[in-house]
Amino acid sequence: MTTTGEHRQRLYRTDAIVLKRRDYGEADRLLTVFTPERGKLVLLAKGVRKTLSRKAGHVELFTHSTLLVAKGRTWDIVSQAETVEPFLGLREDLARTGYAYYVAELLDGFTQEHDAHPPMFHLLRETLSRLATLEAAVLPLAVRFFELRLLALAGYQPQLFRCVACQQPLEPVTNYLSYAEGGVLCPRDGEGRVDAEPLPLPLFKVLRFLQTREWDEVARLSLSPGLLSEVERVLQGFLVYYLERNLRSVGFLKAIRA
Ligand SMILES: [Zn+2]
Repeated sequence: MTTTGEHRQRLYRTDAIVLKRRDYGEADRLLTVFTPERGKLVLLAKGVRKTLSRKAGHVELFTHSTLLVAKGRTWDIVSQAETVEPFLGLREDLARTGYAYYVAELLDGFTQEHDAHPPMFHLLRETLSRLATLEAAVLPLAVRFFELRLLALAGYQPQLFRCVACQQPLEPVTNYLSYAEGGVLCPRDGEGRVDAEPLPLPLFKVLRFLQTREWDEVARLSLSPGLLSEVERVLQGFLVYYLERNLRSVGFLKAIRA
């Protein structure tokens, strides 16, 4: 017999967004979820592949749910699940689904299990909401905005206002970009370096704008396709540098575009 007190300690309630999942055993799934107060967790959801499962719809990919979780030996177990926001728009077209996979995988790549990070949960939820509801034209910007915020929250904010070498404020000229140094070099420090590339002024300005403005302002930006793809390339440079591995979703997104 367990007392009520002991029982309570073996259960916890948490908000969670499902980042990924894999089948386990006959009818179960292992879910990788992100929570505000407990960070990333791997949870066992029993029986959710059965057609009559009441839990199944509440633990779909990218769904924001409230979970009641029981502590387990190897994995904690989802005991109850209730949807807060299903982000149905993410399932409506392949591009939105692709972006959601990418965002979830990126967040997965930048987080450790049991590392609480409420602002990162907030960023994930806001980003999925934007990807599910906003017009298609602004989705790439929403993803770029997510990437820059994620880098900052993970402790890798690119340094765009002072030279990473001499720490002097950067001038509005062609400076130099170094992924290895984590930001921008002034012309004096950057010129001729093999690990730095020239950073054209328009690109430099857009990156600074994205880094410092709220989403409402960023969403109103109108960038040429060329500039937008340059922003994407530079951010990929930072992300891949820090992850030190290639992300499967990057290939997935490229496949969708092609
Ligand atoms: Zn310098």
